[in-house]
Amino acid sequence: MRSAMKADGTEHRPVMVAEVLAHLEPARGGVFVDCTVGLGGHSRAVLEAGASRLIGIDRDPAAVAAAAETLRPLGGRAVLEQRDYREIEEVLDAHGETSVAGILVDLGVSSMQLDAPARGFSFRRDGPLDMRMDTSAGPTAAEAIAEVDEEMLANVIYEFGEERRSRRIARAIVWARARQPIATTGQLADIVRRAMPRRGASRIDPATRTFQAIRIWVNRELDGLDVFLERAVRRLEPGGRLVVLTFHSLEDRIVKHTFRTLQASGEAGVTVRTKRPARPGDAEQAGNPRARSAKLRALERDR
Ligand code: SAH
Repeated sequence: MRSAMKADGTEHRPVMVAEVLAHLEPARGGVFVDCTVGLGGHSRAVLEAGASRLIGIDRDPAAVAAAAETLRPLGGRAVLEQRDYREIEEVLDAHGETSVAGILVDLGVSSMQLDAPARGFSFRRDGPLDMRMDTSAGPTAAEAIAEVDEEMLANVIYEFGEERRSRRIARAIVWARARQPIATTGQLADIVRRAMPRRGASRIDPATRTFQAIRIWVNRELDGLDVFLERAVRRLEPGGRLVVLTFHSLEDRIVKHTFRTLQASGEAGVTVRTKRPARPGDAEQAGNPRARSAKLRALERDR
């Protein structure tokens, strides 16, 4: 699969494209919604496979600009909106669509966001401690960390990072910020690394889980994910498909439970198409680090 490459050389390879297309079946035609358009890789594949029209949503203004470039050769079949996908109903109403043939959600951050030091997501590259996906709103990670109380911070790191050393890390952060504001990703990574007991030759950076936790917290990534999925399902036409890609167990658990509840309730009239989550093949995992933790779940609205 080609990757979407920007002029500055950043790229993002869309994950599990073949599996996404097999579930969405864009060749049926109709309107498709990409709730996390990113650099537009999946969107382009959906359009090339036969979708009549695509509505692409992303809360990151830089992603919307990048996707516009990727999708330009496809002409007027794509429209893009800088919005939070939790507002999917407002977006569909604004475009006069009551129900659609397919909806894709590819959760998490893009390589474009992760790899740009200025965005402040990465503990590998020093940059301002920002971490906002929507750079037009909300406190940065630096601002949030400057104000949060220690107990709340420990809970965030424990819950969203599944980090056992959460109390110790929170204490170290609060201790450090009393001496000097924590303004960069490098500072935060050093504080966390120093708070962790030395391990053997682990390949995983000790700051990994804490950075994931703070990113999820700053962007409220799990808030209302279940309600959003229920809303999305209501906007599927009969036979319409919803496909969700997740990258950590917290997200996948919410998707799994919401899908099960929707199917069991009967009233929504949906059938889950994936008994177990689909996973990328070995070749894709070897070639694309972001794919390694991916899980795909899909459902269909009954006809
Ligand atoms: N499928 C894309 C990559 C998506 S990466 C591609 O092929 O290029 C995930 C994207 O989801 C990021 O660009 C991020 O900004 C966006 N995102 C995350 N949470 C969001 C939300 N609540 N609303 C809208 N976009 C969101």
